[in-house]
Amino acid sequence: MTALAKIVHTAPEVEAEPELTDGFHLVIDALKLNGIETIYGVPGIPITDLGRMAQAEGMRVISFRHEQHAGNAAAIAGFLTQKPGICLTVSAPGFLNGLTALANATTNCFPMILISGSSEREIVDLQQGDYEEMDQLAIAKPLCKAAFRVLHAADIGIGVARAIRAACSGRPGGVYLDLPAKLFSQVMDAEAGQKSLVKVIDPAPAQHPAPEAIARALDVLKSAKRPLIVLGKGAAYAQADAAIRSLVETSGIPYVPMSMAKGLLPDTHPLSAGAARSTALKDSDVVLLIGARLNWLLSHGKGKSWGEPGSTKFIQIDIEPREMDSNVEIVAPVVGDIASCVQALLDGMGQGWQQPPSDWIETLRTKREANVAKMAPKLMSNASPMNFHAALGALRTIVKERPDAILVNEGANTLDLARGIIDMYQPRKRLDVGTWGIMGIGMGFAVAAAVETGKPVLCVEGDSAFGFSGMEVETICRYGLPVCIVVFNNNGIYRGTDTDPTGRDPATTVFVPDSRYDKMMEAFGGVGYHVTTPDELTRAVNEAMNSGRPALVNAVIDPAAGSESGNIGSLNPQSGIKKKK
Ligand code: ADP
Ligand code: MG
Repeated sequence: MTALAKIVHTAPEVEAEPELTDGFHLVIDALKLNGIETIYGVPGIPITDLGRMAQAEGMRVISFRHEQHAGNAAAIAGFLTQKPGICLTVSAPGFLNGLTALANATTNCFPMILISGSSEREIVDLQQGDYEEMDQLAIAKPLCKAAFRVLHAADIGIGVARAIRAACSGRPGGVYLDLPAKLFSQVMDAEAGQKSLVKVIDPAPAQHPAPEAIARALDVLKSAKRPLIVLGKGAAYAQADAAIRSLVETSGIPYVPMSMAKGLLPDTHPLSAGAARSTALKDSDVVLLIGARLNWLLSHGKGKSWGEPGSTKFIQIDIEPREMDSNVEIVAPVVGDIASCVQALLDGMGQGWQQPPSDWIETLRTKREANVAKMAPKLMSNASPMNFHAALGALRTIVKERPDAILVNEGANTLDLARGIIDMYQPRKRLDVGTWGIMGIGMGFAVAAAVETGKPVLCVEGDSAFGFSGMEVETICRYGLPVCIVVFNNNGIYRGTDTDPTGRDPATTVFVPDSRYDKMMEAFGGVGYHVTTPDELTRAVNEAMNSGRPALVNAVIDPAAGSESGNIGSLNPQSGIKKKK
C-alpha cells in the first residue's frame, strides 16, 4: 500500500487491519497444540525471543548453561513422558553442543527434538561466511532419526508435526528441526496461521504383532527347561507396567532387568534374577527379550556369558523389525509395540500354562541368595575413608525408604556398583548412562526428572562424571529443584592414586586432591555437605531430601578403592609392546 493510498483510505470506511501472526508465535502455538509444555535450551541469536515468548505464552522454559545438558534433559524428558523432549539452541556452536545429546537420544531410542536457529540459507549455501554459518541440516542428518528444515511460516505447523511423529512413532529417536533466523519474523494472517497448524493424531500408533509370531514365540517358550525374560529400557519406556508384571507372574519365568528397566518390577520380586545375572544368562536355554537389544551390554548374545555356543534360543519383542538377527539368530521374532505384544503373549498363555521346572527357579534363587549374603557385610562397613560399597550401602537404604525418588547415576565404579547394589522399586526411577555408557548426563537428567515428574531426585555421581555437567548446579539452584547430588569423591578417574612417571605433571586421571564440590553448591545458594562416613552420608542425604532444596554432598571415598573403568576394564586396549624387565 502506498502512502497516498493510506491517506485516501481514512475512517470511517477503512477496513480493520487483518490480525497477524509470525514465525515465533507459530512455533509456540504448534508445540502447545501438541501438548508440549516444556522447552529446555540455552538462549542466544536467533532464538532468544522464541524462549521469551514461549515463557510469556505459558510454556515452561528451562534455561541451561550449556546446550549438551539442555539436550540431555530433553532426551530423558522424552523417555519419561513418551512425548518428544524439546531442546532449543542457537546456530552452529550451540547446535553442535546439542547434537551430542541428540545422537545419544537416538542411540537410546528416546524421543527428542533438537530445534536450532540457523543463519541465512543464501549465505550458508554459497559459503559466504555468515554469523555462525553452518549447514546444520546436513550435519545433523546422519546423527539422528530424521531431520527437517522449515523455510516458510505457513509450513511451521507441518514441520513440527513431522518432527513429533518421526520422534515418537516406531522406534523412538532424535529429530532435528532447522529454523533459519528469517523464519521467525515472517508474518502471515493469523487465521490462516492457526489453520496451518497440525495436531498430530496418535503419534505412536499401536503396532499389533502377527498371530503367527505370537504362536511361534509361545511354542519356543513352552519347550524351555530354563527360560529367562530380559527386560530392557524399551520395556520401561513402553509404560506397559501392569502387563509386563502380569506376564512375568503368570508365566512364572524369572527375569533380569537391564539397568534402566530396574524397578519395572521391584528388584526384591521373588522372580528377579538380577542378583544372579551371570548364572541366569549363562545357563538359560530360552530367552525372551522385551525392549532390550543384544548389543555389548548383553555380550551380543554370544560368547562365554551365554554358555555353550548355540545353547540359547532367543525370542525378541521389538518395534523395530531390523533389530532382529542383528547379532545372533532370533528364532521367534515378535515385531510390534511392547504393550500389544506382551498382552498377546498373555492371552496366548491362557489357562493351561505350565510353570518352568522348579529346579531352574531353585538354582537361581540359591545363587541370588548366596550373592546377596556375600555382599551384605561389605555394605555395612563403617571404614573411613569410605569405599564404594560402604557409601552405596547407605544410599541403598535411603532409596528403599524413598521408592518414588528418581535415581540418576553416572561414573565408572560409582555407576557399576550402584547399579548392582541399589535396589529399585518402581518403574522409570533409574536414569543412567544408557546404551553408550556416556558421561555427562547427570545434571541434565536430574533437572528434567525433577521438572517432568515433580518427584525428588537423588543424583549419584562419580567425581569425574559430575565434572562434565557440574556448572548446571546453578540451573538447579535457579529453579529451586529438589535435587540432591552425591559426589563420590575419590580424587580422580577410576582411582585417585596415579602419578606421572616423569614427575612433571599430575597424572592424567587425577584431580585436585580433597576438592570440596559441596562449595560449588553453596556458591549458588544451595546446601553443601562434606561427609566422610556412611552415617554422615545417610544423615546429609536424608536432611537434604526432606528439605526439598538443592543440595550437594561431597562424599569422600578412598582414592585407592576404585578399579580401572569399573566393570568394563576389559574393553581397554592393551599395549602390544611388552615392557622390558
Ligand atoms: P537396554 O539397553 O535396556 O537393553 P535397549 O536400548 O538396548 O535397552 O533396547 C530398547 C529396545 O526397545 C530398542 O530396540 C527399541 O526399538 C525398543 N522399543 C522402544 N520402545 C518400544 C515400544 N514401545 N515397543 C516395542 N519396542 C520398543
Ligand atoms: Mg572418581
